[in-house]
Amino acid sequence: MAPIARCNFCGRPQDYNILLIPGQKGANICADCIETAHNHLKEEFAALQSKSKSASATSSIQLLTPKQIKAHLDEYVIGQDEAKKVLAVAVHNHYKRLLFKQNKPQGKDTEGEEIEIEKSNILLAGPTGTGKTLMARTLAKVLNVPFCIADATVLTEAGYVGEDVESILVRLLQAAEYNVEAAQKGIVYIDEVDKIARRADNPSITRDVSGEGVQQALLKLLEGTVSNVPPKGGRKHPDQPMVQIDTSQILFICGGAFDGLEKIISKRLSVQTVGFNRNKTQEDLLHENMFRYVQPNDLKKFGLIPELIGRMPVLSFLDPLDKPALRRILTEPKNAIVRQFIRLFQMEGVKLNFEPEALDFIVDQTDELKLGARGLRSILEVIMRDSMYNLPGEKIKKYTVSREMAESEFRQSALGIMKSAEMLAAS
Ligand code: ADP
Repeated sequence: MAPIARCNFCGRPQDYNILLIPGQKGANICADCIETAHNHLKEEFAALQSKSKSASATSSIQLLTPKQIKAHLDEYVIGQDEAKKVLAVAVHNHYKRLLFKQNKPQGKDTEGEEIEIEKSNILLAGPTGTGKTLMARTLAKVLNVPFCIADATVLTEAGYVGEDVESILVRLLQAAEYNVEAAQKGIVYIDEVDKIARRADNPSITRDVSGEGVQQALLKLLEGTVSNVPPKGGRKHPDQPMVQIDTSQILFICGGAFDGLEKIISKRLSVQTVGFNRNKTQEDLLHENMFRYVQPNDLKKFGLIPELIGRMPVLSFLDPLDKPALRRILTEPKNAIVRQFIRLFQMEGVKLNFEPEALDFIVDQTDELKLGARGLRSILEVIMRDSMYNLPGEKIKKYTVSREMAESEFRQSALGIMKSAEMLAAS
C-alpha cells in the first residue's frame, strides 16, 4: 500500500478537506500552511518597512558638533553667546543619544551595563524679542528636524475650553508632513511658560486658577508619554482615527520672559552667599543680567512646580539687546531685515540703500519701544510702507532711505503718533 501523503510543515495527512500541493522529492505543503506562511511574510515585510522608515527619519538628522551648531546659530542670531553654547551642547547630546539608541537598541557600554542617557529639555529665560524662538527655530533648521511653536497661555487641562496640550503634537505632526517617526524626533518650542506659573497675581491664568493643571499636563509631555492625537486637529471625536505619538524623544525648549524672577534671584544672592558678595558689590549686581544666576529653586519660588522644573534640566538665559546689538541685528544675520528689503526692491529692479543715520534712527526708536528686536521690523515696515506702495511700476533704478525720510514717515505713522502720545502722557 502506498504511504499516505502528508503536509511536511504541519504533518497532517491528506484527506478530503485538505489540499496538498506537491513539491520536489515527495515533499508537500497544505493550503493552510501556505496561508500561515503568507501572513507571516506579510508581517515581517511590514516590520522591515517601518524599521527602515524610522531609520531614515533618524539618519536624516545631522549630528553636528557643539561648535558646528554654534557656528550655524551665529549666522542667524546676534549675541547671546552663553545661551548658544548651552543650547549647542544640549542639542548635540540629545541627538547623539537618539542616534546611539537607534544603532544600539540595548544601550550597553563595553562592560555590558545598561546606561540610559536621559533626555534634557531646555528652559530659556530672557526678555521678549531677544531671540529665544529664533534660536529654537534655527536649531531645528540646522538639524533638519520638524519644528513647531506653541503658546503655553492658550493651553488648558484636558476637558476645559481652550487647546489641549495634545494640540502641540498635532502641529508637530503637520510640520513633519504626517511622518510620525520624524515628528517623534522633532523640536517643540513652548513660549510663555512663565505665564502658567502658580502665582496669585498672575493675570494670564483665567481658566485654571492655580496654573498647576496646565503645568501637570505639560509635564506629561515633557517627561515622555504616548499620546493619542487626532491627526487633523480639532476636538477628539470617536469616529476620527487617532495617531499615537511618543513624546519621549521630542526635544522641548521652553521660553519665557519671567518678569519678576530677577528680584527673586537678587534677593537670594544678597542674603545667601557671602562669598559671592565679597567679589561683587551690590552695585555691580544691579548692572548685571540677574538671569545669569538662575537656579531651579528660583523657578520654584516663581511658581513652577518642581516636577516640571526637574524635566528641564538645561537652564539658560538671554541678555537684553542693547543698541549696538539691535544695530547689528538690522544688517548682519543671514536673513537680516534690511537684507530682506533690499532683496524685495531688487526684484523690482531697484537698488535700495539705507543711510547709516536712518538705521541709527530705527535702532533708537526700537530701543524705546522695549519690544526687543521685534520692534525693528515693525518700525522698518512703517518707514517703507509708502515707498513700497509707490515704487513698483515707476522707472526708478536707485532709492536711498535717509534719516529725514525715516523720521518723517515714522512720525506720520500710527506707531509714531502712539509713541509720541505715550511720551507726552509720561512727561
Ligand atoms: P523671543 O525671545 O520673544 O522668542 P524672537 O526670537 O521671536 O523673540 O525674536 C523676534 C524677532 O526679532 C525674530 O524674528 C528676529 O528677527 C529678531 N531677533 C530677536 N533676537 C535676535 C537676535 N539675538 N539676533 C538676531 N535677530 C533677533
